[in-house]
Amino acid sequence: MKSSVTVSGGGIIGNYIASRLANNNIESLVVEKSDGNNNQTENIRTLTLNSYSKKLLDDIGIKIPCAEIKTIKVFEGEGSGKIDFRAEEIDEDNLSYVVFFNELQNLLQQKVLEKTLFRSEIKKITKKDSEEISEVYISNDKTIETKFIAGCDGRNSNVAKLAEYTEMTGDYNQTAITFTASCCLEDKHAAYQIFSDKGIFAIMPLPSNIGDSTHTVVWSVDNEKLDNQNIEQYVNEYMSYFEGKLSSEIKVNSSILSFKLFNHHFKNYVSGSTVLIGDAAHSIHPLAGQGINLGFADADAFCEEIINGFEKSINIDQRLVLKRYEVRRKNMNLLMLKSMDFFVNLFNSNNLYLKLLRNIGLSRVNKTQFLKKFFISHASGKNKI
Ligand SMILES: Cc1cc2nc3c(=O)[nH]c(=O)nc-3n(C[C@H](O)[C@H](O)[C@H](O)COP(=O)(O)OP(=O)(O)OC[C@H]3O[C@@H](n4cnc5c(N)ncnc54)[C@H](O)[C@@H]3O)c2cc1C
Repeated sequence: MKSSVTVSGGGIIGNYIASRLANNNIESLVVEKSDGNNNQTENIRTLTLNSYSKKLLDDIGIKIPCAEIKTIKVFEGEGSGKIDFRAEEIDEDNLSYVVFFNELQNLLQQKVLEKTLFRSEIKKITKKDSEEISEVYISNDKTIETKFIAGCDGRNSNVAKLAEYTEMTGDYNQTAITFTASCCLEDKHAAYQIFSDKGIFAIMPLPSNIGDSTHTVVWSVDNEKLDNQNIEQYVNEYMSYFEGKLSSEIKVNSSILSFKLFNHHFKNYVSGSTVLIGDAAHSIHPLAGQGINLGFADADAFCEEIINGFEKSINIDQRLVLKRYEVRRKNMNLLMLKSMDFFVNLFNSNNLYLKLLRNIGLSRVNKTQFLKKFFISHASGKNKI
């Protein structure tokens, strides 16, 4: 088999890349480990797309039901600090869009079904000759001759292992708990986020086809708080605290999923003909809902460089294309990762001075238009991340 780009991992980012390249007449093949059957899993996990990610999807013809977020209300559970972000402050209609993970994954998968080799995995990568062609050996005794190998295979990237990238990791010592719940919040287009010693609790509306009262919850809790009880017990015990803060009953109406939270980042994103993109290259705390948006920003930069490269010459300069991608994305992602670590530590601390600082800080930023606009424009995707 031959293909200009071989994508390892048919997740949201890998499938987006294959679809966008196909629209520009660039051949790719997707090597996906799973059998591709996402229909059996309950619709629980959600993603928050910023307007830039949404536009990238619109451009390749993906229309997905979404809940529009026009306001984000953040407050300190124990103190008086609070901040609101409103779309109108940056002259936009919406700040972000909540979609179901499975629905987006299915729509993108459909687009690239014929290019996907399911139940497959890359076993070995060798250089073929001086023309920058690699041979990719995959699990079912097939070989692909390819120019670029895009590692979009998530947190434990196989491509990163095969090409021996150097990884930096950190443990947030937290678990993200997520489920859907019915409740009655006053603002139908608001996302609420509460920072407290019971965890960071975010609740957002779901696409309207699910019903107005159903919301998604993403709740990050310190692992040590979960040591002596199971997750269901923890949710039952502390939900009333957030019900009080939000003045509404919150009733869990799905299974409860949980994920251990780590961050990771690679020293380089490029090695030979391989490149790391999306969660394969980096992962961050879900606190600001930016994980998938960083992945889309990576995918956009990678596709742009590949498309520009092929437009200039059929003998695309592999090293230049990949280096340009790395330069565009690495520092931006690292900045986001470090900022998220700073926020997690700040809001996790029981130090009295830090508690005071975050209370004053939230309220001050709330009153400072210039700083607010800066934060909102970046988080909403109005300014590229
Ligand atoms: C609880 C939680 C809530 C989150 N909420 C948000 C949110 O609100 N907003 C947001 O932006 N982000 C959120 N994220 C992060 C977001 O889910 C990820 O950033 C995103 O899914 C990454 O997409 P990806 O395609 O890069 O990787 P993945 O989704 O990990 O996809 C990787 C793909 O590669 C395949 N694969 C794995 N290994 C191999 C292999 N060896 N060979 C071939 N294929 C392989 C997998 O089967 C999968 O299909 C959240 C994460 C968590 C844990």
